[in-house]
Amino acid sequence: MVEIVWFKRDLRIKDHQPLHDASLVGCVIPLYIIEPNLWKQPDVSDRQYDFLCESLEDLTQSLQKLGQEMIIRVGNAEEIFINLINQYTVKNVWSHQETWNDWTYQRDIKLRKLFRVNNVNWNELPINGVARLLKYRKDWARLFYQEMNKEPFQHPSKLKKINIVSEDIPSAKSLGIEKINYLSRQKGGEMQAYQVMDSFLNERSYDYSKNISSPLYSADSCSRLSTYLAFGNISLKQIFYETNKFIDENKKNKSITNINIRSINAFKSRLRWRSHFIQKLEDQPNIEYKNLHSAYDGLRENDFNEELYYKWCTGQTGFPFVDACMRSLINTGWINFRMRAMLVSFAANNLWLDWKKFSHFLSKIFTDYEPGIHYYQLQMQSGTTGINTVRIYNPIKQSYDQDQDGIFIKRWVSELENHPIEMIHEPWKSPLFKSNYVKPIINEAETRKNAASKLYALKAQIRNSDNTKKIIQKHVG
Ligand SMILES: Cc1cc2nc3c(=O)[nH]c(=O)nc-3n(C[C@H](O)[C@H](O)[C@H](O)COP(=O)(O)OP(=O)(O)OC[C@H]3O[C@@H](n4cnc5c(N)ncnc54)[C@H](O)[C@@H]3O)c2cc1C
Repeated sequence: MVEIVWFKRDLRIKDHQPLHDASLVGCVIPLYIIEPNLWKQPDVSDRQYDFLCESLEDLTQSLQKLGQEMIIRVGNAEEIFINLINQYTVKNVWSHQETWNDWTYQRDIKLRKLFRVNNVNWNELPINGVARLLKYRKDWARLFYQEMNKEPFQHPSKLKKINIVSEDIPSAKSLGIEKINYLSRQKGGEMQAYQVMDSFLNERSYDYSKNISSPLYSADSCSRLSTYLAFGNISLKQIFYETNKFIDENKKNKSITNINIRSINAFKSRLRWRSHFIQKLEDQPNIEYKNLHSAYDGLRENDFNEELYYKWCTGQTGFPFVDACMRSLINTGWINFRMRAMLVSFAANNLWLDWKKFSHFLSKIFTDYEPGIHYYQLQMQSGTTGINTVRIYNPIKQSYDQDQDGIFIKRWVSELENHPIEMIHEPWKSPLFKSNYVKPIINEAETRKNAASKLYALKAQIRNSDNTKKIIQKHVG
């Protein structure tokens, strides 16, 4: 008899409840299924797959040290489980619950049926403080903190070796995964995740609040844990635990001077936001492809301008700060929250593009792509939730505020390398402007005003509608 621990977006051994619980019951097959059809979906790309491969290599080594290496299978999850059930006596499959894209949601529905028919218990355990079948959203924050304040699970000290052979990890190219060139990205793995967390808490967190929106400093001052959380190289609970320990140690030992409690608290709030957004997708999976509020259906859908879209996603809008942010994001797979929000606001409001038509472009270039955060944020910045404040960024103001000396712009927009600083934010205003850099593709102030008037008018119309009330009840804590 074997216990199958199915690793999904939880590629770690520490604080892994399914691994912990299964090892108390019997012999464990640690399983990871590389699903080629998942990697053919339009929302993913090779940068995420390569991060996954590094995470699997790291996890394989950790499991090997415990006595049983990771078993990799490549193919359709249903067929792989049928083969395993036919080969071994399987009573239990253990995994974390997965709140991911529509493809994984549909796959899990089929698997639930398969396990039921074959008398296999699928022990799906909660993760990240996200609750399945949550009755009252008002209870959520309390339940979340209850979970986050628990001790992380210890990993088993030993696993019994089973006679089973793993398959090789295929390359992104051999699976036909979309390739998008980039210059650099973080490396995957549990060990890396702990190094990043430790360096954040002990060395980089002091100016977190101050630098959080700076395109120049945020890459260092922010935690940079998002990709590790997206692949589960470290658990959210573990980060809470280590952060609280760091705060306590500071209270006891005043010689720790590198703590800024305001920054640490701001960081902890964002950890909660992560689950707060994923809970919304858990409660309503169609947020991935439908406006949260139906009053917004048809608002932008028929106005999609391919040329404007192309200029936006290649960083050629003629707005230096927008283009610098886009080029940096494409090349590094990461940019800070405010810059993500500004890029989306520019596409949705200035260019009047429907978020559903550009969501996959962004999800493919974020190495930390997390559907629960991604789709709700896209809708918030596009103003289609109907319940959040309408927020339209002025990209020229952001440019002056966040990149005063134009250093970030010059780094990424080489066409402006030799341009005088005084005119770097609005080069089109300079009478002496000579460069191969493109002219602005739209009138910023006019398009922003138009978008605002449409969005404010619609919001006022639906303020007290039944639909708005239902959405608030379902999604607001
Ligand atoms: C349009 C848009 C799309 C986004 N898509 C993603 C995505 O696919 N994956 C993703 O992880 N984040 C996404 N974010 C949220 C945020 O930008 C990133 O989490 C953050 O920039 C990651 O950097 P960090 O790990 O250094 O964050 P830190 O500032 O150090 O925050 C710590 C952690 O808190 C969470 N977090 C931070 N900000 C937010 C937020 N606003 N909402 C929810 N959780 C947050 C993340 O897990 C992050 O790792 C998106 C934001 C916008 C505006």
